[in-house]
Amino acid sequence: MDRREFLERFAAAALAPTLGRQDAANEWGSRVFDLHFHLRPQPASNLAHLDGAGVTKANLLTRAGALEQVKAVQAAAPGRFTWFSSYDVTSADAEPVLKQAVKNGAQGFGEMKFHVAADGPELRRMYALAADLQVPILIHFQEVDHVANEGTWATGYAKTFESVLKAYPRTTFIGHADAFWANVSADYHNEAVYPTGPIKRGGVTDRWLGDYANLFADMSAVSGSNALSRDPEFTADFLKRHQDKLLFGSDCSCSDGHGTGYNNPAAPRMAGKCVARETLTVLKRSTSPVVLQKIVWGNAHRLLRIPT
Ligand SMILES: [Zn+2]
Ligand SMILES: [Zn+2]
Repeated sequence: MDRREFLERFAAAALAPTLGRQDAANEWGSRVFDLHFHLRPQPASNLAHLDGAGVTKANLLTRAGALEQVKAVQAAAPGRFTWFSSYDVTSADAEPVLKQAVKNGAQGFGEMKFHVAADGPELRRMYALAADLQVPILIHFQEVDHVANEGTWATGYAKTFESVLKAYPRTTFIGHADAFWANVSADYHNEAVYPTGPIKRGGVTDRWLGDYANLFADMSAVSGSNALSRDPEFTADFLKRHQDKLLFGSDCSCSDGHGTGYNNPAAPRMAGKCVARETLTVLKRSTSPVVLQKIVWGNAHRLLRIPT
């Protein structure tokens, strides 16, 4: 769709009642910032998910080339959307393209989800660039297929990422996805997509969040929700210890913020549920109002330097 068509559709959508600004404070006990929200092609559907799930603001994860769409969404709902940009890290022009995205207003790199090693040359130049531009980089780590031959992303996390955290102290890393969250437990060895059962203390993700000031955690997707749902005692302690490093996100693909259309073949228990609502529910019952407010609102504003 071209720019005019996009804006016309958006103008039509703006008349829909779902666009009313919603005060989410009553539902979750805090305003909510969704760090991990993939830009949707139909403009109104972005707001439908926020309003349905009781989310105040969201960070749009986009691919390079989406600037006009981002601007239109921001113009229709002022103050409710920030954005990150991603680009193929194996491409020779990745650096200038991402640099331009930041000039255009992108506040981070992401989602970086590519079939390369976490400590390989392609991502290393992105880590360096993120430090130079002073923007965070959000990475999808995954080692186990959801469906046959799906492939792996930013591989080697548990074995090699500590060396990256050490080598790039000026880079702000935001970890996300299956391998990142499964490794809160010390007994994980890539044997399951979403491991279940009690968490064995001392997993690398838990340790590194404590040891490295430059590592933050994106709690989105089934991976984040699953990790928080395994072991209530662990969860309460984890949220308390890392209360300044955790960032709420949904990565939910349901249409309405109530679970319609959500289907993840690797997580049948989540079918028909909204990931945002599932995770917010666990967070709300697992921690204090003060810590909750940091995790779902304050931390993201601080990290992205957005006035609250
Ligand atoms: Zn992801
Ligand atoms: Zn949802």
